[in-house]
Amino acid sequence: MRFVILVVILLAVIVWFQRLKKNLGRDRSSSGGDSFPGAMPASAAPEPTPVEAMVACAHCGMHFPASEAIADSSGAIFCSTEHRRLHAS
Ligand SMILES: [Zn+2]
Repeated sequence: MRFVILVVILLAVIVWFQRLKKNLGRDRSSSGGDSFPGAMPASAAPEPTPVEAMVACAHCGMHFPASEAIADSSGAIFCSTEHRRLHAS
């Protein structure tokens, strides 16, 4: 009778350990799954940057975004005020 009780206790301990293992594994996978697919795609997907037109400096010929262009009175485009000044003189 003692032996049977011991076996039952042993089985209970084994089952309890297996459940503990399962729960730990589930917790790990679920926490990783929650933080990854939920947060990553929104932040990871880069917003498509609008392609900006490139223009060449009339003085040095360097290409740069049109938004940074500096035009003089004749309509020539320069990369900087310095080059506009140098080109005019
Ligand atoms: Zn320039």
